[in-house]
Amino acid sequence: MAQDVLNLIGGEHLPASSGEWLDNFEPATGQVYGRIPRSGLNDVEAAVTAARSAFPEWRSWSPSNRRAVMMRLADKIHENAALLAESEARDNGKPVSLAAAVDIPRAEDNFRFYASAAEQFSSESHTMGDGTVNYTLRKPLGVVACISPWNLPLYLFTWKIAPALASGNCIVAKPSEITPMTAYLLGTWAKEVGFPDGVINILHGLGPEVGQAMVEHHHIRAISFTGGSNTGAAISATAGPKFKKLSLELGGKNATVVFSDADFDQAVSTAIRAAFSNQGQICLCGSRILVQEDLYERFRDAMVAKVSKMRIGDPMNPETRMGAVVSRAHRDKVISAINIARGEGGRILCGGGRHQPSEPRLKGGYFVQPTLIEGLDHTCTTNREEIFGPVATLQPFKDEREALGLVNSTKYGLSASVWTKDLQRAHRFAAGIDTGMVWLNCWLVRDLRTPFGGTRQSGVGREGGYNSMRFFTEPQNICVQL
Ligand code: NDP
Repeated sequence: MAQDVLNLIGGEHLPASSGEWLDNFEPATGQVYGRIPRSGLNDVEAAVTAARSAFPEWRSWSPSNRRAVMMRLADKIHENAALLAESEARDNGKPVSLAAAVDIPRAEDNFRFYASAAEQFSSESHTMGDGTVNYTLRKPLGVVACISPWNLPLYLFTWKIAPALASGNCIVAKPSEITPMTAYLLGTWAKEVGFPDGVINILHGLGPEVGQAMVEHHHIRAISFTGGSNTGAAISATAGPKFKKLSLELGGKNATVVFSDADFDQAVSTAIRAAFSNQGQICLCGSRILVQEDLYERFRDAMVAKVSKMRIGDPMNPETRMGAVVSRAHRDKVISAINIARGEGGRILCGGGRHQPSEPRLKGGYFVQPTLIEGLDHTCTTNREEIFGPVATLQPFKDEREALGLVNSTKYGLSASVWTKDLQRAHRFAAGIDTGMVWLNCWLVRDLRTPFGGTRQSGVGREGGYNSMRFFTEPQNICVQL
């Protein structure tokens, strides 16, 4: 049964004003299962107009009323968790078990967390000792754009729109055209839980068309974007000269660093999880596994033994732990990256190509074997460029100094995961890493209050906690002499 999605503009669910549609594919089958509006300039204009007219009312709501309506949307996510997890799995190709355990609960958490932040956010005041007081107002910006990627669709969509709404802005948001379904479902509950029409506007369509029109629009004051570094650069080039606020969460080429004193079993299983969760399509995935040389062979063999046994299956089957990658184009990109690794002299330890499941339903699906590669140094393309698929390399290192050089050898600076029982080394090493986030003896443990983001080509700015609330507000200092 075809499942079409619609735009949400001013409280109404609408097709694109052009009447054009795009096909929506199910990655596990390669079949079209619905359509999305191919929105453009006119739809952006209508959404911005709706958002602007809703803004005076929405900004005047008390923080506790904003909190209440946001909590009700979180309740809706909770009540519809099974539907959302299935929709995410069908739309993205990820295992439904992963969507049910991670994506959807974290989307709910994002809304609850920022609903509370609406009430708890505060601003500064500075006294000058002569009766002069400065206090800083934090004003909502007005209409802001939130643009999110396909890898964690609802999770990253809510991570942006929740703080934007909590701080009193009206939003024009665009999920990835490849995974529109859960953002659409969320929008269908906005009115019912009590959001005034026009506060939440959701547009679907292609990045270079509707996304670009959002970035260009003169009434959009800020853009919160998560996606690839090249797209981030294009958005910066458009938004920079227009002096819009920008938050960019971009790609990564993260290292998992294992010293020989690490807890072996935990390091092996977490390095595998870090490399292959969500088919390797998480910006925080550890795609370069660096292992101290005296442990290298044992660690490699243990990894290969486990990864070779990973079973790929139907994302809709609750038993499946590894599903399809998100699109045909992305599958081809990942396979081409594996071939580049071969060409560079890499030895494929396991995997190395497409996977063809036996179930007839999955015949046209986009499946890639989990792949481990060794024998490549840090100068080759495979260890420099983000692949964003189920592909990781293994490299040995001699000592701390060499390991640090390898960790910092790419243009990216998002995250790292370091494994050692030596506490002093752990802290010393972490401080030397040029990334926005480091996990010591763990990976992907998230506290929503902490700064989230990367350095260099992994992005500009930080999200998370009050960082997001500050991004979505304009500080205004008021100086008063009493
Ligand atoms: P893209 O950069 O291709 O797309 C991200 C979003 O931007 C999509 O909604 C896309 O729309 C839209 N877009 C594309 N072109 C433009 C444009 N010119 N103007 C405005 N919007 C545009 O990234 P992917 O969706 O492929 O996501 C994968 C990337 O995201 C990886 O590099 C990954 O590392 C990164 N990522 C970073 C994270 C972080 O927090 N640092 C977290 C998760 C992912 P459409 O899809 O319709 O083209």
